[in-house]
Amino acid sequence: MDATAVQASARKWALKNRNDHGSAQASALMGKVIGEAPEAKGDIPALRAILQKVADEVNALSPEQVDAELSAFTFEPPKSEREGLPKLDLQRLITRVAPNPSGYLHIGHAKNLILCDEYAKQYKGQLMLRLEDTDPKTKKPMPEAYTAIPEDAKWLGCTISRIVIQSERIPIYYEHAEKLIQAGHAYVCSCIPEVMQKNRAEGKACGCRNQTPVQALREWKGMLLTTKEGKAVLRIKTDMAHPNASMRDWPAMRIVEEEHPRVGKKYRVWPLYNFAAAVDDHLTGITLVLRGKEHELNADKQQYVYDYFGWKAPLTLEYGLLHIEGAMAHKSDIIKGIKDGTYSGWDDVRLPTLRALRKRGLQPEAIRRYMIQLGIKPTDSTLDWTILYKYNRELLPTAPHYYFVEDPVVLDVQGLQAKDVTLPLYPGAPQDQTRLLPASSPLFIAKKDAEENVGKVVRLKDLVNVELSSNTVSQNQDHKGVPKIQWVPQDGAVNVKVVKEDGSEHVGVAEPAVGHLKAGTVVQFERYGYCRYDSELPDGVKLFYYAHP
Ligand SMILES: [Zn+2]
Repeated sequence: MDATAVQASARKWALKNRNDHGSAQASALMGKVIGEAPEAKGDIPALRAILQKVADEVNALSPEQVDAELSAFTFEPPKSEREGLPKLDLQRLITRVAPNPSGYLHIGHAKNLILCDEYAKQYKGQLMLRLEDTDPKTKKPMPEAYTAIPEDAKWLGCTISRIVIQSERIPIYYEHAEKLIQAGHAYVCSCIPEVMQKNRAEGKACGCRNQTPVQALREWKGMLLTTKEGKAVLRIKTDMAHPNASMRDWPAMRIVEEEHPRVGKKYRVWPLYNFAAAVDDHLTGITLVLRGKEHELNADKQQYVYDYFGWKAPLTLEYGLLHIEGAMAHKSDIIKGIKDGTYSGWDDVRLPTLRALRKRGLQPEAIRRYMIQLGIKPTDSTLDWTILYKYNRELLPTAPHYYFVEDPVVLDVQGLQAKDVTLPLYPGAPQDQTRLLPASSPLFIAKKDAEENVGKVVRLKDLVNVELSSNTVSQNQDHKGVPKIQWVPQDGAVNVKVVKEDGSEHVGVAEPAVGHLKAGTVVQFERYGYCRYDSELPDGVKLFYYAHP
């Protein structure tokens, strides 16, 4: 390990620990230091010695010296005073998240959810969940998503005060559409789509725009009853000379004859996004909207609805896009992949869905920290998995450690006395948090370790030095500079399968204690990585999902 980096990290956290709690505790630094310098866990006794030394040094400083040294560092503010979120001047904060229940939530959704939830909590406001399910054709709602989305939001730690489902509110949109028609702010356009498109592109009004409210109302009734799909849309009058073509008389309602999974064939006219969102935001008392800046134009479109009704628009804050590289985030691709068997389901670990991250052992708080540090900034960013993993490690300082040996090969060690080795459950664990590792020959080591150390002396970690030339216990037990490798006794070895984030599978054996884990436990297989224990397979093999190094 890089001793200087470990030392520096330990010093920083010891100072903070001393400052926050009066004295620095070596055991409290372990998780923080490993979070910043994961290689340090390769030699825990050495690390523990460093931490103790640093803690003693820091405890010997005067409070002034601590202050002076601490001022050189910046720390993530505690949860209660997290920023990245600009202060707001709002009497009453009611915000909302509005996913489409055509699929499960993925990490991209988490940004909006968490930022809204943080605001709601900070201002003692409310967070509403609105399920936008008014497109039964191209964004066909998925029945299970209506329960999965609130569940996943809850898993993320969000407090949802109310759930609004748009398909239950269709008469409300009709009523408001009619009001706009009667006031001359909306009309039914029956031009064929190509003509409509051309007119909008060229900023030319079509004849339909001259309808009197009475004529428009008659056309509207026709839409509700008999007009065929694609033959008419209700458009909001804006400005046909608007510099942005998409702003010109944008469509508010259209006919879709497809069956809806919740309301069946009850309705044939459905609102489009901007119209439904404006009506709902107003009627449900939303005072704050957070949105990705890709929706910039939508706020301008919706402003027409607000103006026509004389409503006050909610405060809108925009933030940069969060790109997700190397992971598939398009709902349509996921749906297709699940259908054709490429993916096992929405929680397939190759997907960036919250269910998949949860299955791998990602902690919701790690996702939250990540999104808060992104904050409400206009700059776009790309999801940096290494930072997310770093946060996750920091949250798991007490994840139990176990020996896991991938691709095991048998090692019959001559002269190895059978004995029980007692090890801490995790580095720095209190005396009563231990695990028992019975050592006896033959045992398993990883094929890779065997191959890399042919003919050499290796340290079977926490046990003995072994000469791999003769497979005998070494005369010399000094293990400084000797490669340390994990081992598992053949007697009591637990068969393990680890599914990695790319879907590949590793098989191996783990120490006997792994046989008694509770489902959902996140462990650290030493020199391998963090994994979440999922279940026992029918053949008795323990199934784990890999989280990160
Ligand atoms: Zn027209």
